Amino acid sequence: MAIASNLGFPRIGYHRQLKQATEKYWAGKASAQELLDVGRSIRVQNWQIQKDAGIEHIPSNDFSFYDHILDTAVMLGAIPDHYLKTSTASTSLDHAIIHGAVPAHDLEGSLKNSSLDISFHLARGCANEKCALHPGQTVAAWEMTKWFDTNYHYIVPTLKSDQQFQLLYQQPLWYFLEAKSQGISTRPVIIGPVSFLMLCKIEDPDTDRFTLLPSLLPVYLKLLNLLKIAGAEWVQIDEPCLILDLDSKAKQAYKDAYEYFSKSSLKLLLTAYFCRLGDNLELALNLPTAGIHLDYIAGDNLESVASRWPQGKVLSAGVVDGRNIWVCDLERTLHLLSKMQTIVGNSNLIVAPSCSLLHVPLDLDDEKHLDKQIRPWLAFAKQKLTELSLLNTALSGDSQKVRKEFETNKLAIANHRSSPRVHNTVLKSQLANLSANQFKRNASFDKRKPLQQKLFNLPLLPTTTIGSFPQTKEIRKARADFKTGIISQEEYKQAMRAEISHALTVQNDIGLDVLVHGEAERNDMVEYFAEFLDGYVFTEQGWVQSYGSRCVKPPIIYGDIIRKQPMTVEWSVFAQEQANRLANNKPVKGMLTGPVTMLQWSFVRNDQPRSQTCQQLAWAIREEVSDLERNGIKIIQIDEPAIREGLPLKKADWQNYLNWAVQCFRLSSSSVKDETQIHTHMCYSQFNDIIESVAALDADVVSIEAARSELDLLDAFVKFKYPNDIGPGVYDIHSPRIPPELEMLELLEKALNLIDPKQLWINPDCGLKTRNWTEVIPALKNMVAATQILRARLKEKAPASV
Ligand code: GLN
Ligand code: ZN
Repeated sequence: MAIASNLGFPRIGYHRQLKQATEKYWAGKASAQELLDVGRSIRVQNWQIQKDAGIEHIPSNDFSFYDHILDTAVMLGAIPDHYLKTSTASTSLDHAIIHGAVPAHDLEGSLKNSSLDISFHLARGCANEKCALHPGQTVAAWEMTKWFDTNYHYIVPTLKSDQQFQLLYQQPLWYFLEAKSQGISTRPVIIGPVSFLMLCKIEDPDTDRFTLLPSLLPVYLKLLNLLKIAGAEWVQIDEPCLILDLDSKAKQAYKDAYEYFSKSSLKLLLTAYFCRLGDNLELALNLPTAGIHLDYIAGDNLESVASRWPQGKVLSAGVVDGRNIWVCDLERTLHLLSKMQTIVGNSNLIVAPSCSLLHVPLDLDDEKHLDKQIRPWLAFAKQKLTELSLLNTALSGDSQKVRKEFETNKLAIANHRSSPRVHNTVLKSQLANLSANQFKRNASFDKRKPLQQKLFNLPLLPTTTIGSFPQTKEIRKARADFKTGIISQEEYKQAMRAEISHALTVQNDIGLDVLVHGEAERNDMVEYFAEFLDGYVFTEQGWVQSYGSRCVKPPIIYGDIIRKQPMTVEWSVFAQEQANRLANNKPVKGMLTGPVTMLQWSFVRNDQPRSQTCQQLAWAIREEVSDLERNGIKIIQIDEPAIREGLPLKKADWQNYLNWAVQCFRLSSSSVKDETQIHTHMCYSQFNDIIESVAALDADVVSIEAARSELDLLDAFVKFKYPNDIGPGVYDIHSPRIPPELEMLELLEKALNLIDPKQLWINPDCGLKTRNWTEVIPALKNMVAATQILRARLKEKAPASV
């Protein structure tokens, strides 16, 4: 008999309950106990949902108030010293709880409370003089970075080179016991020690992180033993780093760690996901664990394990897509599972989602207005549990019992495949017949540049911004009022036009050279465009955690992409007219989201390659670019902040991705005249390893985030001799701090040592939508003042050439 299982469940609760509760606690409007209660009710509800769906291996400790890697660091005592002093944890209590002497919930007040505050401090930083945890000190937040190639971000713990570990808090144990007290026996989830070390940052970068392994392993073993005493049978030990390209040290660390854990008599399920194991398959299969989980959605295949399956090992087969929202093809999957069963043995198979369901929305039943035709094609977390359970029942020979569900599923799959709403033959043939010319600008950059210079007559070191200006309360209220019908469309447009005029006046007063309309009309840089495109559908409650209390609601691409009507032309034309009137005819940039970013931040259809969907998006954007140009917009920026995060997890797959990503950008941007200037923008990117591709985009100007790294990010451009114009950000927009003129001047001097002044643009790091006008205006004034000082200096130095 196989077992139906799950690897992790969304932890934000219905309607983002956890977000609301957490933010209330942060604002001092709710007590810690109120927040803890919300957390507990979400966990209890999640366990019940999974049990009701027929899941047998239900995860615990997949919950977190902020992030699970952060929790692991706190659990392991891998936190700055001053927190260790304030922590009130005590291991002797664990034995008391396990043996039933102290009810688990009695400990919440003292223990969880302090671990909760420590994690929030580490995640968000703290500058409160009177803070009880670190009186008189300010503490910076730990860094945050993307969780593999998902849109989830984890907190990166910083470890000392001689970091010591201790079992400071025992969340996995608390949660296991909490579920047990509800009568639910769970499979605790912990992040494995090797991935933990690989995901942390070590203070001294020269330290070999695996030297910390020997002191870490006993702490893990202690935890495993506690879980064993508490009654756990299996523990899910996540080692997602197993799918990365590993060096020999990392491989050895895996061998050492799991050899060491074989001392525990618990059954360990080693889980890897998000990609095929590839070269590490042999290593992973031979680690002495009772079971292993493989991701069959992201590329592991039957053949790869068939001939070398270690006898007696349990296979957790990730066959239901944990990262996307499409229904599973039950019949096909059942067939696959049966084949697996013959390889690994009847009783050695666990049916599982490909990865934790953290990455999909909670419940499709919560969507009240979803398109009736599309709904049967979708499955969110709760529906995926049902799929897992159905597969398991069918696999166990009870196919009669689930016949109806299988038939419904078959029909949905067939409808989806053949629906005329999914396929547009005109578009498909248009894109199949593109010529090489449609992927390149008419003239090369060195020919375009003088033409553009003549047209715009910009000063040396032109100043501009990245696009958005503050999304004020008033703007959000106007949009909400429009959506609920309190104000008319005309009133809404009027309000947005007033915002645009205001933004233009401010920019002109500050003395910026290339203006923007400010993006007041955009709720989100992807959703705004998606609403104008056929092939997209939207949810009301399809929230997914992005980081901490922040959630996103990615739109869903279900079919071929067709631009229904111009998306930005009206606003851009209005803005340019206003600039002609208010701002001396200064150019206003048209502002678009690029195809790769649209793709990355949506749920993407799975019936064709991502590259093909991306090309359709590129085509729609190309149409918009042409319309903008035809309507007199002379500078067009196509943002691609997500281009780097789309990189595959294995280096071997990079080039293929970069090739099509670059081609898509070029398709979107290259229809224009030589004089029309194309900008692009990228943020939070490491450019060293993709600089050739950035250059291949052939944008006339690229603006990048650079202020936070004090322009270190520019190195890649300098080494590569990046040929086109470049605007390294000199103002960190992530902080409310207003950078003084001198500070920006210093950064600019540094930039000028590296780049030819004729190539250099001056701009902030990113859009200003999250800032206030009171921060933005003085900061931009300082930026312009610093630029003017430099211009004057350059003129003195080389009067003839300027
Ligand atoms: N044009 C967008 C803005 O200014 C770019 C946002 C981004 O890079 N993420 O907000
Ligand atoms: Zn940005």
